[in-house]
Amino acid sequence: MNNNLGPKYQCTICPYIYDPEKGDPAQNIPAGTPFADLPEDWRCPMCKHPKSDFVAIEEVIDNDSPEDKETMEALDMGIALTKKDVYVCDVCGWEYDPELGLPEAGIAPGTAFEDLPEDFVCPLCGAPKSAFSPKQMDTAADGQAVTNA
Ligand SMILES: [Zn+2]
Ligand SMILES: [Zn+2]
Repeated sequence: MNNNLGPKYQCTICPYIYDPEKGDPAQNIPAGTPFADLPEDWRCPMCKHPKSDFVAIEEVIDNDSPEDKETMEALDMGIALTKKDVYVCDVCGWEYDPELGLPEAGIAPGTAFEDLPEDFVCPLCGAPKSAFSPKQMDTAADGQAVTNA
């Protein structure tokens, strides 16, 4: 299928939408013509306004879609939560990931670091909970040195 035809364009004067997948056969524009490739003298078939009166509607869809907004907010919240949730041992760099828990120490997956027993110790070096620091998940990509010994 054609996925690289660019966005649909909406006429700002009338409700007509130029769909590159459909083209504009009435004006000899074959299906599959991106809006950018339309001749400069192409006009809106409904109101006869020029290309300059059209706007790409990708942005409009983004702004209108509550789903997208919620996804963005959920992502923001997700980052904020994981920042708190994953803890790194300051001594050896071992990471406590609450999603995994620590089954070999009787810690069920999904147990938040704050909910660990006070006598929890790092399984690698034996450091106490107080030796752990929250991990900054958003810098993990360039902060991998954190896990080096
Ligand atoms: Zn129009
Ligand atoms: Zn440790």
